[in-house]
Amino acid sequence: LLIISRLLVALGANLQLQISSALSDADRAFLRSLKLDGTLVFEGPDINDATVDFGRLLTLQPPRAVLKPASVRDVAQLVRGIYLMSAPGNSTTLTVAARGHGHSIHGQAQASDGVVVDMSSLRGIRVVPSELYADVRGGELWIDVLQAALREGLAPKSWTDYLYLSVGGTLSNAGISGQAFLHGPQISNVHQLEIVTGKGEVVVCSEKENSDLFYGALGGLGQFGIITSARIALERAPQRVKWVRAIYSDFDTFRKDQEYLISQPRGRCFDYVEGFVVSDSENLLDNWRSSLFQPAHDHIRTRGSELGVQENITSRSINSTDATVLYYLEVAKNYMEEEADIVDGMLAELLAPLHCIPSSIYSTDISYVDFLNRVHVGEMKLRAQGLWDIPHPWLNLFIPASKIVEFDKVVFKCMLGKRGAGPIIVYPMNRSKWDERTSVAIPQEDKFYLVALLRFPSEMANTEELLQQNEAILQFCRSARIGEKQYMPRLYGAAEWRVQFGESKWATFVRRKALYDPSSILAPGQNMFRCNY
Ligand code: FAD
Repeated sequence: LLIISRLLVALGANLQLQISSALSDADRAFLRSLKLDGTLVFEGPDINDATVDFGRLLTLQPPRAVLKPASVRDVAQLVRGIYLMSAPGNSTTLTVAARGHGHSIHGQAQASDGVVVDMSSLRGIRVVPSELYADVRGGELWIDVLQAALREGLAPKSWTDYLYLSVGGTLSNAGISGQAFLHGPQISNVHQLEIVTGKGEVVVCSEKENSDLFYGALGGLGQFGIITSARIALERAPQRVKWVRAIYSDFDTFRKDQEYLISQPRGRCFDYVEGFVVSDSENLLDNWRSSLFQPAHDHIRTRGSELGVQENITSRSINSTDATVLYYLEVAKNYMEEEADIVDGMLAELLAPLHCIPSSIYSTDISYVDFLNRVHVGEMKLRAQGLWDIPHPWLNLFIPASKIVEFDKVVFKCMLGKRGAGPIIVYPMNRSKWDERTSVAIPQEDKFYLVALLRFPSEMANTEELLQQNEAILQFCRSARIGEKQYMPRLYGAAEWRVQFGESKWATFVRRKALYDPSSILAPGQNMFRCNY
């Protein structure tokens, strides 16, 4: 049954798997014996919630129970007990999955034969302005970290595009957005972690103290411990943002400009660099305005003349190109209100060397919070249309810079002809801003790209077709030796994970697993050392 289900998933089938096996008497007795500050639930809406995630591609057997911890002690007690019961001679099969906000795609935060720890019940943020950091519970959402830090005039440096994600969840992956080229991913901006290991030990770790666990947990996909607290680096918060988009018809020009922008020294560069692929130029203007990343309408105003470009983009200026695929560059410059008089000059200087379609530069001026929280506007729109709680057959890849032109030629220009709705994001990052010691797998080149195919089913392609297309893209990457790494990977079993990490990183991963989670209790939804299906 497991092999068949795996095959079905590989073929892109939406999997509803209900393998029933009852909670053993010993496991039930253990769970009921826990002396908790929080609660453990065995049925009801919390169980249902823990069975689905944002991807809505996989519905596994519900977890045996959901822990809603009120203290770190609760988490430690649960994991410690299961660890002890999994020693030779005992027969528990219970696993434990921390669930941040359940925004995984392929069941990574699920535990079909175990206990899901609902991290949203473990909250707390303490901002320390004098030291420029915040101590944050693992279940906190980044939007709440932002709001708390802003009350002190501060903010984290590195972001994700969407802020309704948990701190523990993004730190278990990497946490990236258009700031990553400058500040590195979120995992490069953490001073310290508190972790409950797979043995149920509570360990504080940092670069100086228990550093092996610290770096292991950053990008560690939840395999070595549950992050109960993180010390996040802060900086003085900018007040406003000049948010600019420009259009390119030629990929090589687009990616050269992107790579130029992320190579500029700090102080003489944008604060954010991303990009989008649009494969239907006929509808470019519609896509532009209705994209997920559109700010609230009353925030928009074009600012052409001061930048030496035309006032507005026109259909004619865009459709005069013959391109079938177009590329948006998206950049942002943060500033303080006292810099309002000089920021347009700064912007014009930064934009001057670019080779975009000259009449296509479009800019808006919004508050820093609105800029960071821009995807939430899109979320509200999609929710209103019933398009949020639907399947999300997403694929996220890191592509080495030397292969991105080939990737564009085959994937963006040819394979994506029939595509679902949803943005396709592409932007480069500097490897020097990533710490080799962390667990995350990235390409072996100084610059590499995130390619995020954030598509959802529409009349153009259904979920199964999009999943099959994802498989075909991965197949192309393998056969063309692109050297890609999956971000937030969907992989199955040690052999596939070894390829993802490469021999040396995988050896470190296996060593750390044996040290910190020797019974492979944690995060079975990653299907790495234990498999959920
Ligand atoms: P979950 O899905 O709940 O968990 C993810 C994994 O981490 C699971 O294996 C889980 O067991 C483990 N985990 C969760 N909490 C902890 C913890 N405290 N300790 C240890 N392990 C834990 N990512 C980016 O990098 N950049 C983006 O711009 C971005 N945008 C997104 C936009 C949307 C709309 C969505 C849905 C996702 C986006 N993501 C982005 C992906 C996001 O980073 C992942 O989904 C990530 O898993 C965080 O989601 P979560 O907090 O809900 O974690």
